[in-house]
Amino acid sequence: MDIVSKEARLRIMASIRSKNTKPERVVRSMLHRMGFCFRLHRADLPGRPDIVLPKHRKVIFVHGCFWHQHRSCPLASSPGTNIEYWKPKLAGNVQRDMRNRRRLRKLGWASLAVWECQMRDAERLKKIRVCKFGD
Ligand SMILES: [Zn+2]
Repeated sequence: MDIVSKEARLRIMASIRSKNTKPERVVRSMLHRMGFCFRLHRADLPGRPDIVLPKHRKVIFVHGCFWHQHRSCPLASSPGTNIEYWKPKLAGNVQRDMRNRRRLRKLGWASLAVWECQMRDAERLKKIRVCKFGD
């Protein structure tokens, strides 16, 4: 009964979402090509994961390296100015991420973070664990 195909609808949804960052789009199209069914931004799960794979009980967060302080990543280093302002904010983000992952685990969901810097290298991207979700 659907006039708009699933794929077109995804595109429409993506275009109207403010949260639709580019790295997230990369991950989504990769999963799509691999034939996964997924949902986006499920508000009823802790942390409102960017991508949800209900069948596999897995969620994916697409994280900006700076905002979520990717460990030992050059993109995570603080901006030169206003360090005192950023530090507590960023530390808060990291703590919130940890809390959300813990909550998800308790609810029976496995979570995976895909990092912004991983999007820059297609070959590396293929090797991240997302690819094994179909197991
Ligand atoms: Zn990074």
